[in-house]
Amino acid sequence: MTDEQYMKLAIEQAERALEKDEVPIGAIIVYQDEVIASGFNVRELSQETLSHAELIAIQQANKEIGSWRLEDCTLYVTLEPCPMCAGAIVQSRIKRVVYGAVDPKAGCAGTIMNLLDNQRFNHQAEVTSGVLEKECSLLLTNFFKALRERKKH
Ligand SMILES: [Zn+2]
Repeated sequence: MTDEQYMKLAIEQAERALEKDEVPIGAIIVYQDEVIASGFNVRELSQETLSHAELIAIQQANKEIGSWRLEDCTLYVTLEPCPMCAGAIVQSRIKRVVYGAVDPKAGCAGTIMNLLDNQRFNHQAEVTSGVLEKECSLLLTNFFKALRERKKH
């Protein structure tokens, strides 16, 4: 499968977040051409700081593989990882990260800084950005637009 096809699956996860009135961000993890984990943002439902799509998917992948090391895995996420998730990506040794939309407010995979490509850490992840960027960012802008509309009424 191509990056675009895998990103579509991450977008499906983001749509599941949207159904629950959560900020639509979704992630999947691929190992040996197989999707082994998925997650979507549930921060409002859980009221937990750590409930980001990437962290949920990483924990699921750990269980699936039976290891904290995700060395041969690729993470697909609809929005550029924040500092917390980028930190978890470095810690989990994920090989490659593919993301859709950039996050000017929290992006730590190249926008504000790049935690995934710093030679001073003991691990670097390969980053591909802008895959299905329009679809990914449209989900978010539509969500926030609807939220503002609701607040007005
Ligand atoms: Zn995050």
